[in-house]
Amino acid sequence: MMGPAHSLSGAAAWLGVGAAAAGFGHPMPWPVLVVGALICAGAALAPDLDHKSATISRAFGPISRILCEIIDKLSYAVYKATRTKADPRRSGGHRTLTHTAVWAVLIGAGTSALATTGDRWAVLGILFVHLVLAVEGLLWRMARTSSDVLVWLLGATSAWILAGVLDRPGGGSDWLFTGDGQEYLWLGLPIVLGALVHDIGDALTVSGCPILWPLPIGRKRWYPLGPPKGMRFRAGSRVETKVLMPAFLVLGGVGGLGALELL
Ligand SMILES: [Zn+2]
Repeated sequence: MMGPAHSLSGAAAWLGVGAAAAGFGHPMPWPVLVVGALICAGAALAPDLDHKSATISRAFGPISRILCEIIDKLSYAVYKATRTKADPRRSGGHRTLTHTAVWAVLIGAGTSALATTGDRWAVLGILFVHLVLAVEGLLWRMARTSSDVLVWLLGATSAWILAGVLDRPGGGSDWLFTGDGQEYLWLGLPIVLGALVHDIGDALTVSGCPILWPLPIGRKRWYPLGPPKGMRFRAGSRVETKVLMPAFLVLGGVGGLGALELL
């Protein structure tokens, strides 16, 4: 899928989690619902950091371009090192390592560790990166026509404001994990979810997605998971923009109302 569909599905997924959490007796304070949905929308672009023309690889100027090259090389190396004879030869790392559940869990755990052990700047940094991505994903065309610096400024100011709201009593920095020193542990959750939703979105497209690596399926370790061929669509096709994106909007709306216990 393309950036906007990925981001929208990420936001909708977090709102759905909000509804489920309310059902299980852990309702999200509204800042957790809003910030989580934005982080998840941003995190849903992150796996494409292995592709130089993806939104994320251009979102932070030279930093993301260099990171993209490193991730692409790393992914390709891991692919070559773990492929079986049945996995096809390939020339780059796109849709390999960063498109697996293992990767999603690793970056989510890494973010949670950073958020709980780091200081306020760590939280601000995590918010900033994902808010910039959320703007790029959700407001795709508008972000493209405005300058990068404006989007970064918007990301920085909203990160600052939202961190302030989360830090207030009842604001939700201690949502779900209430122990001492566990503030912001939950920040990893929208990041795992965003990456997984991205993988599922890609699995629906023609080339599939190796979500379950390194579990062997058939004789392949990088088996491109997906529905039967007839149910797949091309990235950026009408199915994506005319059917899936409106569906994500509706599902996200319903999830959001459920999360706020308004249904
Ligand atoms: Zn992808």
